[in-house]
Amino acid sequence: MSTGESRETTVTSGVPESSLSYAEIEKAAEEFARLHEFDSQTCDIRDLVHRLGGELDVAILPDSKSDDGGSMDARRDGPFVIHLSPFTGVLRDNFTIAHELGHFSLHVPLYFKEHPDRQEVRVNRFGADKPELQANRFAAALLMPAAKFREIAEQVSWSSIALSVHFSVSQAAAQYRADFLRR
Ligand SMILES: [Zn+2]
Repeated sequence: MSTGESRETTVTSGVPESSLSYAEIEKAAEEFARLHEFDSQTCDIRDLVHRLGGELDVAILPDSKSDDGGSMDARRDGPFVIHLSPFTGVLRDNFTIAHELGHFSLHVPLYFKEHPDRQEVRVNRFGADKPELQANRFAAALLMPAAKFREIAEQVSWSSIALSVHFSVSQAAAQYRADFLRR
């Protein structure tokens, strides 16, 4: 439980924001997928993490906020660890992993460029700053690329349950993407 400390309102992702627009982030995510031959309809994002030199770790931190998702430790020389909550399911974790890969792709290189003396960076999960929003957009585009999503959505009458199954994301994530792309 929170003890009323104000730190929760000051938590930031810990990495600098990208100068890319959200449209450019969607393109960057699709390019990242192409480069690493990742297709969320046929590939497991856990395999992608391993191919990139990363590891997954189920966090056992006794942190009241750890039921919500992950965080990441990344090293300048490449290896990284994504920490996942023990309380979330596979579909939810898929989005969390894709979100952390957004930080890995968009923000971690910027961090090391700005901090030439640092060898490691911890990316926090619980910020609500711009890098968080950017990582969420990257994750949505990586797992649910817009053109493909619209194509499948038309076939299933924009059913979030069907879309959830097609793209291996939670129904909530599929619904959010559907609401966004249907406008
Ligand atoms: Zn994040």
